[in-house]
Amino acid sequence: MFVPGYGMAVAQAQHVVQELAQQLTKNGAEVRHAIHPVAGRMPGHMNVLLAEANVPYEQLVEPDDVNPTMETVDVAIVIGANDVVNPAAKEDPSSPLFGMPIIEVDRARTCFVLKRSMNPGFSGVDNALFLKDNTRMIFGDAKATITAMVAAFKEG
Ligand code: NDP
Repeated sequence: MFVPGYGMAVAQAQHVVQELAQQLTKNGAEVRHAIHPVAGRMPGHMNVLLAEANVPYEQLVEPDDVNPTMETVDVAIVIGANDVVNPAAKEDPSSPLFGMPIIEVDRARTCFVLKRSMNPGFSGVDNALFLKDNTRMIFGDAKATITAMVAAFKEG
């Protein structure tokens, strides 16, 4: 399950995300893209980028559909998203994000987070997801990271 955010737009990574998704599908994986309504910086931002990259509409899912099935997600790949996957929204009543719906990637079996640093996102709030046992941080520009993953698949 891919979870795109503002950083995917900054990196312009949508085309390589689709390339990786196609490789995973070819390998037998079930691929979905979980779209949070406020991911990015304008309504529909992620939908537009993924549509431009020819991601099939039926692979797009909403938080309410995906959250109840999160324990069955083998790998969540967070691509430059931060606030929309911040577990403080559920866990920390003192957080400014408390009560905001999120995509609950912290409950997936493994979560990869692609971003350049530990810096917070738009809200300025730190994200405990990055420190969880089932999270692996992959630092770097999201397009460069996914391009390298695509190349590794081609070699394999
Ligand atoms: P965030 O702004 O929370 O996080 C984006 C992350 O992308 C950053 O933490 C940054 O981390 C990373 N990033 C930036 N450039 C790159 C890059 N080249 N490669 C990899 N990662 C990168 O984004 P979300 O989409 O999760 O959340 C959207 C936020 O914007 C919410 O707080 C929402 O309320 C707000 N908002 C949304 C609007 C909408 O209509 N959609 C309108 C206005 C605000 P790093 O610097 O470490 O790389």
